[in-house]
Amino acid sequence: MITREHTKEFNIGNKKIGKNNPILIQTMSDIKTSDVENNIKLIDDCVKLGCDMIRFSVLDEEDCKALKEIKQHSKIPVIADIHFNYMFAIKALEANFDKIRINPGNFSYRHLDELIEKLIEKDSCVRIGVNSGSLGKYEQNNTEVAKQFFNAVDEMLLPFKKKNFEKIVISCKHSNPNTTKLLYELIASHYDYPLHLGVTESGYGINGAIKTCVGLIPLLNEGLGNTIRISLSDSPQDEIVACKTLLGSLNLKKDIPTLISCPTCGRTQVNVKKFARLVEEKLKYVNKNISVAVMGCPVNGPGEAKNADIGIAGGKNTFTLFRKGKVIATYEQEQALKEVFKLLEHIENED
Ligand code: SF4
Repeated sequence: MITREHTKEFNIGNKKIGKNNPILIQTMSDIKTSDVENNIKLIDDCVKLGCDMIRFSVLDEEDCKALKEIKQHSKIPVIADIHFNYMFAIKALEANFDKIRINPGNFSYRHLDELIEKLIEKDSCVRIGVNSGSLGKYEQNNTEVAKQFFNAVDEMLLPFKKKNFEKIVISCKHSNPNTTKLLYELIASHYDYPLHLGVTESGYGINGAIKTCVGLIPLLNEGLGNTIRISLSDSPQDEIVACKTLLGSLNLKKDIPTLISCPTCGRTQVNVKKFARLVEEKLKYVNKNISVAVMGCPVNGPGEAKNADIGIAGGKNTFTLFRKGKVIATYEQEQALKEVFKLLEHIENED
């Protein structure tokens, strides 16, 4: 099996993918692409959260017209998601998009040569992305599914190989996480192209994230995957935070903050849930390896709070604040939160 550090390496815009480069976090805009103003706001927010690349669907001519401005504004690589209409891929490349995603389930093979010529001219990249939802009637048996996915990728790769075009990323997302795992392993046993990992149509919130993790954690631990998206029926921002949490928890990405908070119980005499959530909101935008503990009581609280960079351990309507294991002071609840935020800002601004 070809693991991430043995894949091809190339640039997608200003990011490097493949080999020992960090696993890139990506998401997809949920706003119509022609709405340039709101897409630009979204890109800026995603960049602040730590997103490495962002994808836009190209549905019609109005979307095509918006691509140039979106590309000009974006500090991170932009990807055009193309289905059915190959001319939209050509137009996205003319707008200097950094990558095109095409789908073997609906991209016309007779236009591939023209697309490859344009990719070469623009020095751009392509993702060949197979999805269980777009392969028409797909098999239920895992071996048959794997064969169907593999053949779709293999067939689409042929014209790229003929023209020696190698800036290719592959994805093969299934809505069943266990099947997804098998598909990626099969692809990685045949090709050294970087892999974009994901489980498709996984659902929303905690359930969607868990389902995705079931498929992706074994793959990431096997050393597969060069970029990931956690596709959720939630905001792109939520997808980025979920990716950061997953990669940070597996020690595959540095500069990820950690929130430690207790589940609360009958001993809790402070509002842990409210304060943990507020701290979590703040931490989303911190791209540093900082741990913050919000604990409910003196049983486990001081221990966890002491081990974190910043910790608060609850008493009776008060929190004791810790900084790197040392007690700073005890405050009433709202003031404790303000002190946590002050310390966070201070750490963020340190070199
Ligand atoms: S830290 Fe204290 S309040 Fe929180 S769950 Fe544990 S025992 Fe309960």
